Amino acid sequence: MSRLIVVSNRVPVPEHSGDAPAGGLAVALQAALEEHGGIWMGWSGKSSGTREPAALDLKDRGKITYALTDLTDKDVDEYYFGFANRVLWPICHYRLDLAEYGRKEMAGYFRVNRFFAHRLAPLLQPDDVIWIHDYHLIPLAAELRQMGIQNRIGFFLHIPWPPADVLFAMPVHEEIMRGLSHYDLIGFQTDHDLENFAGGLRREGIGNEIKPGRYSAHGRIFKGGTYGIGIETKAFASFARKSASHAMVRKAAASIEGRDLIIGVDRLDYSKGITQRIDAFERFIEASPGQQGKVTYLQVTPKSRSEVPEYEAMQRTVAEQAGRVNGALGTVDWVPIRYINRSISRPILAGLYRMAKVGLVTPLRDGMNLVAKEYVAAQDPDDPGVLVLSRFAGAARELDGALLVNPYDIEGTANAIARALSMPLPERQERWGKMMDYLNEHDVVRWCDDFLKDLVA
Ligand code: UDP
Repeated sequence: MSRLIVVSNRVPVPEHSGDAPAGGLAVALQAALEEHGGIWMGWSGKSSGTREPAALDLKDRGKITYALTDLTDKDVDEYYFGFANRVLWPICHYRLDLAEYGRKEMAGYFRVNRFFAHRLAPLLQPDDVIWIHDYHLIPLAAELRQMGIQNRIGFFLHIPWPPADVLFAMPVHEEIMRGLSHYDLIGFQTDHDLENFAGGLRREGIGNEIKPGRYSAHGRIFKGGTYGIGIETKAFASFARKSASHAMVRKAAASIEGRDLIIGVDRLDYSKGITQRIDAFERFIEASPGQQGKVTYLQVTPKSRSEVPEYEAMQRTVAEQAGRVNGALGTVDWVPIRYINRSISRPILAGLYRMAKVGLVTPLRDGMNLVAKEYVAAQDPDDPGVLVLSRFAGAARELDGALLVNPYDIEGTANAIARALSMPLPERQERWGKMMDYLNEHDVVRWCDDFLKDLVA
């Protein structure tokens, strides 16, 4: 393959070439970029205030050039917080009620995509293969095409794609759909997302599937497929094995004093179902008097997007709820919920996952949910824990050894917690083994290879 050009909103630039990247996606994309040579472009995360951003900041690391641009304050407000996070994020997570449309923000989104295209185009060579990531950059291919760029361009959406009725409530849905048709390949996390996309094309009468995986719309023909993102399964399992030597993990183990640990790990986001989950835990304890004082539920919830009002409000709601449940159920020597509002590094998380008898992953809607996969990869094969997983996470379509729940059904989730805690070892091992086989085979490197293979085919 020729050079690879990756574009994403944020870019994980290593300090030095060869530094270990944080997170599986960065590992896989950096490996692909190393192999083919190429560029990874995106926003620096910094603002240039009211001034036009300076030229791209180019950093060479081995065969990869990282190309970063600042954005103005107005760009960050309108493109990032305004449209990407207050319109596309809620719409793609089926939350029509939380979407806040504004003409200014919509215009800002398209303007920043055009700006990205103008910055990227001069760096491109005719046979470069371009891979654009996620909801921030949907119109980028259309902008590049407008400038005469004919290269192969693929797009992967990391979050869900909503059904037509939800999508069409968004005032600029036509431009968004037209933007997608300028790609050569559009990748979704699950078949369900791809079906929603195809349903949207049909419903508007703008296109259809002309043969399996091939679509026609807006006078263009392009491919669409499903590529569920994976994790670095082997590396994560190895973190978890070594984690017992981590002082922090040892301290955590000592502090739960032999109680069963239930773990939840989510960015503070309304899509994650955290309040419903705390309700379900409370219901479980109320319904199981024998479990009082015997379990600890650890909820790790780093703050996220605090500049967006819904997120700021949620921070208060969840903290109050955890406090209320602890007040109602706790005793002088037992705190039922440990709520941590801060990020924990992945090697330590791996150790906590491994210690936990139950992984509670109950989003109301999630593109994939990597925590579910990491929880499975971190388990001890001799005594694996049980994954309780929302049927509305993309991961539910792959991890058939999990106990699937409907997160809106509080009693159902409470029952699943009880069942997970009392599941006999042979059943736990059988369920875990199936999931681990899947994760070993479908890791993030395979995901990257599968997508790129179809993009250049
Ligand atoms: N994560 C982390 N520290 C934390 C909480 C989460 O490193 O304190 C990581 C977690 O290991 C996972 C990612 O953040 O790799 C979350 O990915 P996921 O797909 O579950 O959710 P997202 O935040 O992308 O919606």
